[in-house]
Amino acid sequence: MICLIHQANYLLDRQIAALERAFIEGGGYSEQLAAARLAEREKSRSGGAGQIPSCPQCGRPMVARTARQGRNEGRPFWGCSGYPECKGIVEN
Ligand SMILES: [Zn+2]
Repeated sequence: MICLIHQANYLLDRQIAALERAFIEGGGYSEQLAAARLAEREKSRSGGAGQIPSCPQCGRPMVARTARQGRNEGRPFWGCSGYPECKGIVEN
C-alpha cells in the first residue's frame, strides 16, 4: 500500500515537473512573439508615411483615399484596392 502511494507521488512529481517545463517554454515562446511584434512595429515606424498597409481582410495593398461623405468627410484613410469587392479599410 505504501509502495503504491510512493509510486503515485513519483508520478505526480514527474507530471508537475513536465507542466513547469511546458510553462517555461510557453512563456519563452510568447516572449519571442512579443519581441517579433516589437520589431515589426519598429519596422513600420521607420518606414514612415510612405508605407502602404495591406488590407486586414484580404491582404491586398491599400490605396490612400479621402472620405467623401459621412461623419468622417474629408478625412484620409486607407481603402482596399479590391474595393468594392472588398470593403476593408484602415483608419489613418
Ligand atoms: Zn481587401
